[in-house]
Amino acid sequence: MNTAFAIVIATGLLVIAVIVGRPLLAAHRRARLAARALSRRERVLLRRRLPQYRRLPAALRRRLDGLTAVFVGEKEFVGCRGLAVTPEMRLVVAAQACLLLLGRDGTCYDRLRSVLIYPSQFIAPETWQDEHGVVTEEERVLAGQAWDVSRILLSWEDVQEAGNDGEPSNVVIHEFAHYLDHEAGGTDGAPAFATAAERRQWRQLAEREFAALRAALDRGEEPFLDAYAAEDPVEFFAVASEAFFEQPRELAHRLPELYRGLVSCYRLDPAAW
Ligand SMILES: [Zn+2]
Repeated sequence: MNTAFAIVIATGLLVIAVIVGRPLLAAHRRARLAARALSRRERVLLRRRLPQYRRLPAALRRRLDGLTAVFVGEKEFVGCRGLAVTPEMRLVVAAQACLLLLGRDGTCYDRLRSVLIYPSQFIAPETWQDEHGVVTEEERVLAGQAWDVSRILLSWEDVQEAGNDGEPSNVVIHEFAHYLDHEAGGTDGAPAFATAAERRQWRQLAEREFAALRAALDRGEEPFLDAYAAEDPVEFFAVASEAFFEQPRELAHRLPELYRGLVSCYRLDPAAW
């Protein structure tokens, strides 16, 4: 074997080792984080801060502990505008985000790298295109933003207000619902479902519920879902997800079909918790 050939073979083997080895290492690291789960102190803190955590059946709570540990261990948390991110902030954001994954297939927002936390609402540039193709650039004040699949921005003040005013609102759930939507590649208010048929069914159902919501608003009624859901199908999915995790029984009572659609999406039945 001449030297050049040996180098080619060795390089090839190295590339294969990196390709095969990296996901294996990541999976190993994830399994270790999930197995370590959370400390007693962290679990006490989540009990105090998250009503959903208190209600969860034991098996799902253990699963949430594991996912939360993976999230905290894997993702980078960045404090913005001088905010010092505390372990408590990390834990509260991670646990709420992982609620959405409890019934899903073992992924943990795999392409997400950073969560950026602002002390309060922040200004973000936004570009949008109207039906005539005119592009407008403006600045918006936001409580959260799923920037892309690698970054999510949150206002800590708003994270703390989740469900406080009796409204089914939760900025973390909202933005991570957007994330699932992005992750499915469509950004059309339809995340990945177990089967293509289920996804199609969800689209049809969401379209009907979205139209009904708009009609109710036009009639001057006060709907159960926040009016922001009537913005477009993407916001509809995110706002409906907030209600699904924040006030599942009320949602199941007021909008039973929408509730069942979300049960098949998240493979969870939070009204039974
Ligand atoms: Zn949104």
